[in-house]
Amino acid sequence: MILVSNDLSSRVLLSDDVCSSMAVHRQRRFWQPERGGLLFADRSHASRSEILISEATPPHSTDRSRRNSLEIAHKRCCEEIQDANRRGLLFVGYWHTHPEANPSLSQLDVTSFTKNLSDGDHGLTSFLAIVVGSSKSIHDGFACYLITNQQHERLSPLENG
Ligand SMILES: [Zn+2]
Repeated sequence: MILVSNDLSSRVLLSDDVCSSMAVHRQRRFWQPERGGLLFADRSHASRSEILISEATPPHSTDRSRRNSLEIAHKRCCEEIQDANRRGLLFVGYWHTHPEANPSLSQLDVTSFTKNLSDGDHGLTSFLAIVVGSSKSIHDGFACYLITNQQHERLSPLENG
């Protein structure tokens, strides 16, 4: 799956494996809480214009997870980022599920991601946020956003990508 920004200056590549690893946590039943994790890219394949997401880490037992909210545990984020750095991977953002078929970032998501960018000790000036909806199809129901301090932009899937 290939996603691009409106001006085509940024491309995000998502492999089927990475899509599947997030899709298994879709909120398909009313009792399933929001789940999420971190996104990592290959250092050798991450530039300003193109990012290949090579890993989406699974949900963690220490996350605070509810039907309509999720707080990914800070400690595990630090540990996963350190571990990934040692393996030559770069932290590029977060993914989480929503209990809706056509997911989009909530206002609360935008506020907390923007705060994370300005307070974060990860040294990033922008990151990706993927929201995974409740669709059955592997490729449907992924919303991918590029978040900066100034704005958040939803990337569009390329046809046949
Ligand atoms: Zn959300």
